[in-house]
Amino acid sequence: MSHYSALSVFLNALKGNQNWQRAWRDPAPKPKYDVVIVGGGGHGLATAYYLAKEHGIRNIAVIEKGWLGGGNTGRNTTIVRSNYMMPGNTMFYERSMKLWENLSQDLNYNVMISQRGQYNLCHSPAQMDAARRRGNIMRANGIDADLFDRAEVKRRLPYLDYSATARFPIHGAIFQSRAGTARHDAVAWGYARGADRLGVDIIQQCEVTGYIWDKGKITGVQTTKGEIRAGKVGLAVAGHTGHLADMAGLRLPIETHALQAYVTEPLKPMVDPVISFGAAHFYISQSDKGGLVLGGDLDGYNSYAQRGGLPIVEHTLASAKALMPSLSRLKLLRHWAGVMDMSMDGSPFITKTSVDGLYLNGGWCYGGFKATPAAGWCFAWTIAKDEPHPDNAEFTLNRFERGYQIDEKGVGPKPNAH
Ligand code: FAD
Repeated sequence: MSHYSALSVFLNALKGNQNWQRAWRDPAPKPKYDVVIVGGGGHGLATAYYLAKEHGIRNIAVIEKGWLGGGNTGRNTTIVRSNYMMPGNTMFYERSMKLWENLSQDLNYNVMISQRGQYNLCHSPAQMDAARRRGNIMRANGIDADLFDRAEVKRRLPYLDYSATARFPIHGAIFQSRAGTARHDAVAWGYARGADRLGVDIIQQCEVTGYIWDKGKITGVQTTKGEIRAGKVGLAVAGHTGHLADMAGLRLPIETHALQAYVTEPLKPMVDPVISFGAAHFYISQSDKGGLVLGGDLDGYNSYAQRGGLPIVEHTLASAKALMPSLSRLKLLRHWAGVMDMSMDGSPFITKTSVDGLYLNGGWCYGGFKATPAAGWCFAWTIAKDEPHPDNAEFTLNRFERGYQIDEKGVGPKPNAH
């Protein structure tokens, strides 16, 4: 920031920011919309943005019970990647990566995408074989992937434990250079501003408490700000998906769990990329402020509370120390949690439901931040056209009945893995 702009920000603050425009309006809800999206996280806001931008549907409301991005969108560890290999996942996540790569330009809002690369460490010859297979499938689909042996990983990431007494030996790693991080709040704010400018009403502090029904069809929502009618209702409520579906009489293969994240005191730049520790559910990156951002496993019990328990803190920090013994004297500054919509095969849903008028985006488990652009894009397509795009065609609710689970082992742990 130049001195001039820093000074003008300061002077403007003294005047109560009177010259600042709102980034989005704060409208009262209209009685009726063509589409109501429930949930003002990244997915709900992106869906509204793409409905308006790609499909010309402008009479839309996004209803959020708290504030924008106050759910998982503002609580995640910001990793974006497209290293998936299962049919059904591969091209969906690559679509998302391509949208990420142009998102700041598209929204004219800096979402701070940082393609710093992601390593998935391998700890046995069998894990190296699995990584080789994954990398070959990614490359066959036009997605970047590299396999590194132990010597190359040691050259690139010298601060990991390569000693003879290492708890988990490092045999090598699979690397995606286009993977990285993005600024989570900015994603919600950028999509919100973009959607607002296309006419979308964003209504915060408004909880959906039920549905309006007409002859078996959902024709709107009941909210804490009154009834709002809608041609179509789309759910993008992450950990609250089971609850909102239950209100519509749907029982989903989803459980809600808390997932925690952690940040340490700041260090000088040390960890350039994102590193996932294949032996445990642990990953690490470094924020622009210098704090190490750590992620770990789920809390094992069902919960809607946005906080977790100490056993998982201990487990995550033990993983951190096993991987990087040099972290052992570092202080943890804070940890927090979000509530995850864990599906039974670890893959999501973007689909019409069996209830007329109700559409579902959910089941994102640990990995829905990276999916935000494509999830919004594909959910908008599904709502507008009443059919899935080929990239979300497998994200159905009936795949369990048909025996077509999308069971992506290796880069996204399953809910029942512990
Ligand atoms: P949310 O951002 O949770 O938005 C849903 C919104 O719905 C909330 O704002 C909520 O208030 C609102 N809502 C709920 N019920 C109602 C109601 N009745 N009425 C109105 N509004 C309602 N993913 C990655 O890809 N990479 C990562 O590194 C990563 N790390 C993570 C780390 C942690 C600790 C957590 C918790 C998650 C992580 N994730 C990660 C997952 C990712 O954050 C989520 O999958 C994604 O952000 C979900 O976005 P969303 O818009 O669907 O949900």
